[in-house]
Amino acid sequence: MTTVELHFFENKNLLFSEPQKSFLNEISKKIQLQINSDEFRTKVLNFKYKKGRHYHQDFKLNKGKTRNQIFDIFMSGKDPYDDTDKVLNIHIKPYIKKIKVHATTYKNVRSVFLNTLYLDYCMKNTKTGNSKMAGTLIHEYIHIMGFSHYTNKAKKKDMPTVPWGIGNIIKKLIAG
Ligand SMILES: [Zn+2]
Repeated sequence: MTTVELHFFENKNLLFSEPQKSFLNEISKKIQLQINSDEFRTKVLNFKYKKGRHYHQDFKLNKGKTRNQIFDIFMSGKDPYDDTDKVLNIHIKPYIKKIKVHATTYKNVRSVFLNTLYLDYCMKNTKTGNSKMAGTLIHEYIHIMGFSHYTNKAKKKDMPTVPWGIGNIIKKLIAG
């Protein structure tokens, strides 16, 4: 089994509140449940995207890795900062941006920066807030693992990359 552990840090005197932390911890439990399911495994191993009339049986910008290898890398929880076996150690720092910005990562920085305005929006939105935030956390953590995409906006050509691909699988599984 692969577990998910969130680690909260402050950023420029900005701290996550207790309700924000407990919301995020609840989501990490939902993520943990889903990533260990057969359904998740099947969706990652069968990932494909359409290009023209043909389907590509892999992720875009996959660094030469097959879907099986990407699944194994993801489930190993190994990232450049941590090779603890089978633990996704996600480090999170708060920051404030326009609501449209969900989160970001920076090169050679371990933490995911999570926009607290977007976090509050997800906490208020009981219908889709959980699944959106789960997708965001996994998307960003996959950047920490070393996979990227082309643009900073959700563009169609980015959707089959590893962060968007797996992030969206998690989002859909949690949305149910
Ligand atoms: Zn991204």
